[in-house]
Amino acid sequence: MAYVDEVLASVKAKNANEPEFIQAVTEVLDSLRPIVDAHEEEYRKVGLLERLVEPDRVITFRVPWTDDNGNVQVNRGYRVQFNNAIGPYKGGLRLHPTVYLGILKFLGFEQIFKNSLTSLPIGGGKGGSDFDPKGKSDAEVMRFCQSFMTELYKYIGPDEDVPAGDIGTGAREIGYMYGQYKRITSQYQSILTGKGLSYGGSLARTQATGYGLLYFTQEILKLNNIDLAGKTVCVSGAGNVAIYAIQKATQLGAKVVTCSDSTGWVYDPDGIDVAVLQEIKEVKRARLTEYKNYRPNAVYHEGRGVWVTKCDIALPCATQNELLLEDAKNLVANGCLGVFEGANMPTTLDATKYLQENGVLFGPGKAANAGGVATSALEMSQNAERLSWSFEEVDQKLQSIMVNIAHNCDEAARKYGHEGDYVVGANIAGFEKVADAMIAQGVY
Ligand code: NDP
Repeated sequence: MAYVDEVLASVKAKNANEPEFIQAVTEVLDSLRPIVDAHEEEYRKVGLLERLVEPDRVITFRVPWTDDNGNVQVNRGYRVQFNNAIGPYKGGLRLHPTVYLGILKFLGFEQIFKNSLTSLPIGGGKGGSDFDPKGKSDAEVMRFCQSFMTELYKYIGPDEDVPAGDIGTGAREIGYMYGQYKRITSQYQSILTGKGLSYGGSLARTQATGYGLLYFTQEILKLNNIDLAGKTVCVSGAGNVAIYAIQKATQLGAKVVTCSDSTGWVYDPDGIDVAVLQEIKEVKRARLTEYKNYRPNAVYHEGRGVWVTKCDIALPCATQNELLLEDAKNLVANGCLGVFEGANMPTTLDATKYLQENGVLFGPGKAANAGGVATSALEMSQNAERLSWSFEEVDQKLQSIMVNIAHNCDEAARKYGHEGDYVVGANIAGFEKVADAMIAQGVY
């Protein structure tokens, strides 16, 4: 049996109750076949793939906190430290009721290759909790975050593990967690990124994932002689990634006509108004139903359905497995040219396959949304030299990182005979450095 198939069979057997993790490992290992086949003996000898698919460690802990009625609530906290072959563990903290180990292992695994693709020295990790910040008061969120950090602080450090935001963890949550870390340790250290600007955060970090997605998209389109300006774009999500993707796409001359949240979606024929979206989501923390109160031409639909809209470019920016095979069929039938993932693994494996087979350019999340973690690493650099760079300086570095990632994916795909397949390109380009480092550092 081929080495990849052996390892895949073992991952499936050992992690049968973690479908998202199996999905992520299947996608990555399948597309690594060309490079694994070329180095099979060398990799087998050091158990490279077996070690790659097993996290360095998984930490789980109890997170007790008291709600506003004086009742004790208990959530489960996690940190998956997946691989630190090329740098300290780095990856966000997700706070969402669907969080369980399988989701965090999938995200931590993806993070290894994404972080490597940035060309910056950061390893892969992910964490979070099944706590739902939605509907909680500020005081409840603070008590949860303080309790979460009271345990997590033992396992993180500027050269060890540096978590960041993700779904449900924004500036507010990072602030409360950072405050608690400082309170416990008395150390003003760069142990979290996505910090506020007044206490060590980086300019442009808030915008980085969405902006980076568009820099990557624009570069891949350019490589395929397509101009982004004048194109119609569909975005899903209405959170951090979606908002700044919409803003940058609009600045680059495209028209974004949709966005969504977990209850419904909006179609705005005149182009989504980012200021309105920010008011609803960032200021009021309200539902998208409010959008049409500001923009009478817009239409609000209950439930999912963004991908029925005709567009040239699709940017899924909400969550995993939100673009299904039937959606891919709609996009192809409507003449979509490219799908670029702002979220992590938003496209199912069969949908990805369908899109690629039908000539749709496909930019996988680990490349397309790497701008967030890249800018987090720039935040770590600024903290280490106790300096703050200007917005333009960070944005410039972000642009060149994303352009580089696009070229590296393109070249890796070509080198292994899969021209234009950016899934293969991203996985191989991300894997090469990690594999070299793991081999050089011996079996452990
Ligand atoms: P946010 O919490 O800011 O926004 C998430 C958005 O997706 C919200 O609009 C939310 O709707 C919607 N959403 C979340 N879960 C579901 C669901 N199960 N079904 C339908 N809609 C859902 O998160 P981010 O924007 O930060 O993250 C979005 C994606 O991007 C995630 O996959 C994340 O891992 C990935 N990512 C984020 C990075 C970052 O820097 N923030 C970096 C790289 C990747 P509602 O408002 O109703 O909850």
